[in-house]
Amino acid sequence: MPARPPSAARPRRPLQIGLTGGIGSGKSTVASLLVAQGAALIDTDAISRALTLPGGAAIDPLRAAFGDAMIGPDGALDRARMREQVFADPSAKARLEAILHPLIGLECNRQAEAAGDRVRLFDVPLLVESTRWRARVDRVLVVDCPEEVQVERVMARSGWTRETVLAVIRQQAPRAARRAAADAIICNHGIGFDQLADEVGALWRHWCPVEQCHGSPPR
Ligand code: ADP
Repeated sequence: MPARPPSAARPRRPLQIGLTGGIGSGKSTVASLLVAQGAALIDTDAISRALTLPGGAAIDPLRAAFGDAMIGPDGALDRARMREQVFADPSAKARLEAILHPLIGLECNRQAEAAGDRVRLFDVPLLVESTRWRARVDRVLVVDCPEEVQVERVMARSGWTRETVLAVIRQQAPRAARRAAADAIICNHGIGFDQLADEVGALWRHWCPVEQCHGSPPR
């Protein structure tokens, strides 16, 4: 009996990339560049927001768990109020995540299926903090820059104070932990958008040398 061609032995699943980076690192910019290369973006923050908008699948379970006061008059989750509760009470964070994470997982699966053969790019701000996410993706891509650059970019982009940006940075994984979890790091500082695009393009060609990137290419 003739040997099976190698491609028939490989799982027919497109490459799954987990993209992460601290606030202001340039993660969203890199995501757009990868989408331009052909990746299908699955944005966990956007999914989380959609789930908590009026009529979103998380609204009824959140109302049952936290009470009517947590849902605004428009029917959306009162995010500011929820944030306060989570800061004040760690058990609230666990209960919130127990509701949101399975729903986010389901929607990620749905969007991944809908992406067909395209490389799947999961944008996960807290990927390094989550063993589940790290196990789910084939590659972890970290966008990195010094903390001072993060602060300057977010102050310029969002008009936040230095203290607010630093408070968010303190809640995220330390830079060293993120770098340690990476299969590849894009060092997004001291370079302009053109060079960033070149580096993203080079990584794409390295990880996805054929137009449709199936199976488990070598690391
Ligand atoms: P994140 O998604 O990590 O919070 P963004 O991709 O939104 O970060 O980038 C933060 C800000 O920095 C944006 O205004 C973006 O245009 C800018 N930026 C990103 N990369 C660069 C770069 N290489 N040079 C200059 N500005 C950049």
